[in-house]
This record gives sequence, structure tokens and C-alpha cells, in this order.
Amino acid sequence: MQDSNTESSTVAKLDTPKDAWRHLLSAEGCRVVVDEGTEPAFSSSLNTETRAGTFVCAACFLPLFESTSKFDSGTGWPSFYSAIEGHVETKRDFKLVLPRTEYHCVRCGGHQGHAFSDGPEPTGQRYCNNGVALRFVPDSETLPELRDGGVSVERDS
Ligand SMILES: [Zn+2]
Repeated sequence: MQDSNTESSTVAKLDTPKDAWRHLLSAEGCRVVVDEGTEPAFSSSLNTETRAGTFVCAACFLPLFESTSKFDSGTGWPSFYSAIEGHVETKRDFKLVLPRTEYHCVRCGGHQGHAFSDGPEPTGQRYCNNGVALRFVPDSETLPELRDGGVSVERDS
């Protein structure tokens, strides 16, 4: 059973195969969310999004960030000083020489961005997010239902 409201209950992880999300994402969305790529700086319209609302995972629609934690980092990527508790999960990323902290949606595992410890108060954290990995839902709209990739995995027995 899962609760679709945002009280800090543990989010159930999906076991949807990563490739199942491809048909729900744009080509650039696949490159980032599924293949852990990085979009070009200043390419996302979410960079300049300043309305009140919620940023949800572009793949499964789990809410990941509130607009209240968004700030202008000047990097060209939408940036947040905190994520919704329990909704992102981190891992070390050794793609560059220096390890970085990769983070992803805890529900579907979709790549979102990298976290750094040079952010503003009150947390000092900077979640540097790919805009294409998020969808913005202004407060005037209802949040979309969580989705599971549209693939029902058949299991024997
Ligand atoms: Zn997700």
C-alpha cells in the first residue's frame, strides 16, 4: 500500500526496469534520467521559474522539491537548498576524477543531478538539478498521480 500524500512516510521503491521509462520521456529526458547524463547549462526553462509550487520527478511524478527551497545559483541549472525529506537518495559518482554525490528519485531511481555542500543557508546544501528531469506544478494545479512506467511486470507463480 502506498500513501500519495507528502507526509514523511517512507516512499515505496518501484522495481520498474529503467528502460521502461524511456517511452514516457523526451530524448533529452532519457539521456539525463535514464542514462545519467547532464543537460547543457541554461537549457531549461525551469532555471527562471519563480512561481510557488512543487517540482516532481519527470518520470514517476514523485514530488522532489518545493519552490520555497529554490534559489538562483548562477550555474545554469535549477538549484535547491533542500529536497523533500526521504524523496531523493544519493550515491557516489566517479565519472569525473573527483567523486561527486549523485542523487536520484527514491521511487523510480531516475537520475536528477548532483549535490554539493556550497549552498546557501539554512542547509548549506546545493542540489544542482537537471531541469529536464523535473516537471513544475504550480500551486494552482493539482499534483499529477504517481505513475509506474506503464509496464506491469508479469511474474511466474
Ligand atoms: Zn521518479
